[in-house]
Amino acid sequence: MPDQPALPVLRDLPLVDHHCHGVIRRDLDRGGFEALLTEAGGAYGRAAPGGVTLFDSQVGLAVRRWCPPVLGLPPHAGPDEYLERRAELGAEEAGRRFLRAAGLASVLVDSGFEPEPLLSPTEMGKLAGAQAHEIVRLEQVAESVAAGGISAGRFADAFRDALAGRARHAVGLKSVAAYRVGLDLRGERPTETEVAVAAAHWLAAGAGAGGRPVRRLADQVLHRFLIWCGVDLGLPVQFHVGYGDRDVDLDRCNPLLLTRLLRAIAPTGTPVMLLHNYPYHREAGYLAQVFPNVYVDVGLATHNLGHRAPALIAETLELTPFGKFLYSSDAFGLPELYYLGATLFRRGLAAFLRSGLDDGAWTEGDAERIARQAAGGNARHVYRLPAGLAGRGFSE
Ligand SMILES: [Zn+2]
Repeated sequence: MPDQPALPVLRDLPLVDHHCHGVIRRDLDRGGFEALLTEAGGAYGRAAPGGVTLFDSQVGLAVRRWCPPVLGLPPHAGPDEYLERRAELGAEEAGRRFLRAAGLASVLVDSGFEPEPLLSPTEMGKLAGAQAHEIVRLEQVAESVAAGGISAGRFADAFRDALAGRARHAVGLKSVAAYRVGLDLRGERPTETEVAVAAAHWLAAGAGAGGRPVRRLADQVLHRFLIWCGVDLGLPVQFHVGYGDRDVDLDRCNPLLLTRLLRAIAPTGTPVMLLHNYPYHREAGYLAQVFPNVYVDVGLATHNLGHRAPALIAETLELTPFGKFLYSSDAFGLPELYYLGATLFRRGLAAFLRSGLDDGAWTEGDAERIARQAAGGNARHVYRLPAGLAGRGFSE
């Protein structure tokens, strides 16, 4: 049974997960577990016609294949048996086991989306036995500035100050413009007047002082302003790209729509990190090839495609230069997804490198170098992370 990746070096190589979220704190019943398994949320479960369950999809079968042994069950244990065992161990112990088994050197946690209490970046690092770093979400900073009460004319300065403060201990920033207005953004940096006018519209629509609710930011000019402020700080700027939950209009999330902005940012040299990308991972690979400062991953898709993850990784690496390809799980909530992402990434990348070796396309030395770059070397370089914990055992 080929349990181990087809390239031995990938079995023990600690990974840098450059985009993930916090783990959920509560115990989960079957409905709660399935709601977190994919980005469909609670859309399935009892309401699904014909009793369709997401356990009967690539990600569900991948969970059953890879996760039960971590909890002391045989592979392919049924969902109910699995969840019973999980409940017996409790959320914390299950979380510890999966995060340890993922074999992570570092986690870069996006702290900007917290629909319920999640483990903080520090807690995540502790549980995973990994270094933890924070990624600050640009829109969340803007919305908190607005919620604090600010005039439109002062918004730009107040945002720049707030961002500089929040970013002091962060290693990167993130834009969710894809979710709010799509990626078809113009390249130019907006003028101060344009920002003030756009802020006036936004603030008038509901953001304001006195604890009034802040309408979520969704404005082309303001998103571009936020992104340029991030570029000015020189920290890598992550972009949500490709699929997510039902909130995204997927046709507006093709990374090619970012071309004008990427062209404008390129001379600054600030790294742009295209996240997830599926099903536009080939387009993302093209952008990574032609723009020296663009990097890609296939987080979220890696575990959702399950058995097909090797095809996804091979397609992404058709054009993506090997020094521009990073690992991420984009896991949220379920500790299983941090482990599943890591396992399927190791196996998929190993299969890709092994097939090239078998074909005489590259040497063992090349394969090992590429594996080390993708597992963590590229992320360490681009986020300027402290030297990794290479060679550390993680199977305890
Ligand atoms: Zn994410």
